[in-house]
Amino acid sequence: MSKARDRELGMDRPITRRNFLEGMAVATAGGASLGGTAAPTHAAPGDAGYPPVRLGERGQNPGANRVMHAIRDGEFWLDAPDAEQTAERYDLVVVGAGISGLAAALLYRQRVGNTARILILDPLDDFGGHARRNEFRASNGAMLIGYGGSQSLQTPSYFSPAVKALLRDLNLDLTAFKSKYYDEQWHSRHGLESAYFLPKEKFGSDALVKVGESAADWVPDSPFPEKVKADLIQLLDNPPDYLAGKSREEKFELLSRTTYKDFLLNIAKVDALIADLYQESTTDYFGVGIDATTALDAWGNWNPGFTGMDLGDKPYKTMSPSGRLVLTDPDPYIYHFPDGNHGVARALLRALHFRAMPARAMEDLVTTSVNYAALDEHDSRTRIRLNSTVVKVRHAGDPATASSVDVTYANGGKLYKVSAGHVVLACWNRVIPYLTDELSEAQATALKDQQKVPLIYTNVQIKDWRAFNNLKIDGFRSPGHFWRGAEIDFPVSMGRYRFAQRPSDPMILHMAKVPLGGKEGDPARTQAYEGRKLMQGYTFEQMEREIRDLLGRALGGGGFDPARDVEGIAINRWAHGYAYEYMRPTDTFWPDGPLPIEAARKGWGRIAIANSDSGAYAYAHSAIDQAVRAVRELVGAAEGAPSFSDFPGPPRNRIGL
Ligand SMILES: Cc1cc2nc3c(=O)[nH]c(=O)nc-3n(C[C@H](O)[C@H](O)[C@H](O)COP(=O)(O)OP(=O)(O)OC[C@H]3O[C@@H](n4cnc5c(N)ncnc54)[C@H](O)[C@@H]3O)c2cc1C
Repeated sequence: MSKARDRELGMDRPITRRNFLEGMAVATAGGASLGGTAAPTHAAPGDAGYPPVRLGERGQNPGANRVMHAIRDGEFWLDAPDAEQTAERYDLVVVGAGISGLAAALLYRQRVGNTARILILDPLDDFGGHARRNEFRASNGAMLIGYGGSQSLQTPSYFSPAVKALLRDLNLDLTAFKSKYYDEQWHSRHGLESAYFLPKEKFGSDALVKVGESAADWVPDSPFPEKVKADLIQLLDNPPDYLAGKSREEKFELLSRTTYKDFLLNIAKVDALIADLYQESTTDYFGVGIDATTALDAWGNWNPGFTGMDLGDKPYKTMSPSGRLVLTDPDPYIYHFPDGNHGVARALLRALHFRAMPARAMEDLVTTSVNYAALDEHDSRTRIRLNSTVVKVRHAGDPATASSVDVTYANGGKLYKVSAGHVVLACWNRVIPYLTDELSEAQATALKDQQKVPLIYTNVQIKDWRAFNNLKIDGFRSPGHFWRGAEIDFPVSMGRYRFAQRPSDPMILHMAKVPLGGKEGDPARTQAYEGRKLMQGYTFEQMEREIRDLLGRALGGGGFDPARDVEGIAINRWAHGYAYEYMRPTDTFWPDGPLPIEAARKGWGRIAIANSDSGAYAYAHSAIDQAVRAVRELVGAAEGAPSFSDFPGPPRNRIGL
């Protein structure tokens, strides 16, 4: 791209582009790959050191996983210094400060009692793991809050009794999203509709196409060739029974071993451009495109083409090892804090350590500043130590009889050792075999079966949303562009935090990318693994240019000027994102089992395994369910304790046949 084009896009504009290398090496003596602390965490709001206001490159940026990668590559222990044995002894050490780790800490405290001393360690510079908050300050002084990862609580009606109980204990009244916080009329009040931006790279010429109720309303005005228009209208509005003559069971069976792409091209026989249009339609939930998602799962994902096939109720898929249920999603998608599920992480922090999160009401969780300086106070019963990567866990003696576990972690270029009565490993499954030599080969292999899906969640602060209002759209999908599209943030107001009302108000746009690699049709695990490698190559500059390019081209007709209107960018990289969810046709054991997670998550000695990976289910409620299981493995369940979901589900995106 030319310098003149870069200027036009505003690449020279002064916005924060600093890459805060979380856990980045600031090696002192020895251990070139030892993690250090790149930036202070004891900072106040408004201070550039306050983690949520750090913009630029966030999430698991290249520095965050440096220590674990050095261990993986066999380099770390070659020149690591001796660990300093501290006098710190805890009842519980939790590895990972994501929702699962925080929930495990609270559940343990509830079970063992308030005197329990707990330490939570995490390499990132903020707590919450994937549940991440980005804060912006608009030019008019208003605070804008965005979610940098885990977005919303999905389908609370299906939460297990244990998850519901925990949310109740956190004083989170989810019904308030319906009655007070989520403005379900916001889009219709402003007359905004969804749209496609069809980029010239894929579709010949740039076009913004508004999507109406029925295809017959909008497809005729699209720039597609006539054959594509006819196919699309039929697929969307009036699809025939493409498998006429087969029973429902036979149809399910066939759809469960056919990718949606094959379904479109070879069963529905629509034009290939339509497959291009839908290629990324399954990435939000499945983390993989239609070339590796079954048609059955695509049906559950509300993809078009199935309404004429007599498949039964619109599915919301659920699975249990024995059950073969097809359900309808009973809940609207409104359970969203302005900072996404970081709101849940804040509620957990409040319950664990009120001085660090002194919020009274549920609304206050959004606007109260976290006292980061208090997170690791030595007199607190729960301590959260950020910028700290656990590198080893080992029982002090035979795991069957040992009374403690040594936990070694890297922080500030040094290694420290603390002692724990119990340990919950709430980090990812794949990390665990690198932390211990106490596991069997079979369990280590089962843990490594999890192949996390990489994702990038980006918040773009814009001066106002006039362009959207002028075009009467609330966002668009951009198949074939680097970014999947852009959407106006969720219309949520809580307490003093108010969502934009006037088009002249500042706004946050959400943009996402699921970087997939390998070749078309490769299994989801391969695409995720290869995609992570691709993602490592993306520079902030490249991603910023793509943001500005896309917004300029898609919204230019509404008066959007990327050089003038983009005021801030936070790009949250999640190289290790969604937990991998089993999928047909690759995972032939699905859903009858045995599932690799069953062997993978077995605790040993004084150590238990939590995290959403151990449920093979990429949801906050799975992270909590797995924490419940892990804590019960260590200290047993209280009498009459509510049940939890041991297995993934009930998912929105899996049909167990
Ligand atoms: C972009 C994105 C969007 C999502 N959207 C949703 C959504 O809308 N709804 C939903 O329910 N779920 C969503 N999820 C799924 C999300 O994974 C869960 O909601 C939940 O946040 C998972 O929590 P967790 O604690 O299991 O894992 P994580 O949040 O990944 O926490 C694990 C923690 O372990 C730490 N760790 C790793 N290695 C070590 C080590 N060696 N030492 C110490 N700590 C370590 C990590 O840094 C991390 O903080 C989303 C995920 C992503 C990535």
